[in-house]
Amino acid sequence: ERRAALAAAAGPGATSDGHKIPLLANIGGPADVPAALEAGAEGVGLFRTEFLFLESDGRPPSEDMQAEVYRQVLQAFPEGRVVVRVLDAGADKPLAFLTPATPAEEPNPALGVRGLRALLDHPGVLLTQLRALARAAEGLPVYLEVMAPMVADRADARAFADACREAGLRARAGAMVEIPSAALRARAVLQEVEFLSLGTNDLAQYAFAADRQVGAVSRLQDPWQPALLDLVALAAEAAKAEGKSCGVCGEAAADPLLACVLTGLGVTSLSMAASALPYVRAALARHTLAQCERAAAAARAAEEAEEARAAAHSVLSGE
Ligand code: PEP
Ligand code: MG
Repeated sequence: ERRAALAAAAGPGATSDGHKIPLLANIGGPADVPAALEAGAEGVGLFRTEFLFLESDGRPPSEDMQAEVYRQVLQAFPEGRVVVRVLDAGADKPLAFLTPATPAEEPNPALGVRGLRALLDHPGVLLTQLRALARAAEGLPVYLEVMAPMVADRADARAFADACREAGLRARAGAMVEIPSAALRARAVLQEVEFLSLGTNDLAQYAFAADRQVGAVSRLQDPWQPALLDLVALAAEAAKAEGKSCGVCGEAAADPLLACVLTGLGVTSLSMAASALPYVRAALARHTLAQCERAAAAARAAEEAEEARAAAHSVLSGE
């Protein structure tokens, strides 16, 4: 209760000079909602819907069943924002009925039919999920956004936006930026969708050709890598030019120092595990937007992750 009171008293995410950065929670289902509320989340920035499908013994869950679960989450955030990600199957999240390729057919599952690709191969599964979301949101004051994982280019974004319209979904459609091509051509992607959300876990995996499940290459998975910051900046700048939003929902957002740098790069919201929210809120509240921008520039000027971290730290602690 004390923690809940503290979170509520802390208010919405913002820099010390009042630049608002909504702080949202990553959740995997209704069970994660209480912790998000307790931490003062202003909404949900990433609702990973995989669990529903993993628990449904070999068949996709029915539209009714999905609508019921989505409604439980949406009801918890009246006037708030909830970003639902459609099913992200494949690679590190295998699902037998959607991504059945054998190792011989698909030797590199992370580069195969996963995420949106698997859904476009199974349009019935995608439409059922989108219709369930449309029903769940009916009559609720929530601000629902729906995004696709693993969007590679404008054609992917268009296919997803078309599916949302076909399902009668009135929510805004967005694209996750997890593949470097989508960051490089973010303005084109934004011709089809209303917002971007950077999935920095996969974006690092694909930018550095470093499997996120292989510990031996973890150095290259470090979100402080300046090349990753460059990709974040590209996406954020494109969104700004198009007058649209660009959040971050990968693990990077949970690092308080990096959250300041991401803010300085121009991202417009941060979504993370609920446990990280108070720390990120406190870090943002200690610095102005201009300080965050200087820290971001210093980090991007570095050559390596460790150097980028040290440079940002020195800017933010020296001021
Ligand atoms: C990401 O890739 O950064 C992301 C948020 O999605 P997931 O970790 O579920 O792949
Ligand atoms: Mg991902």
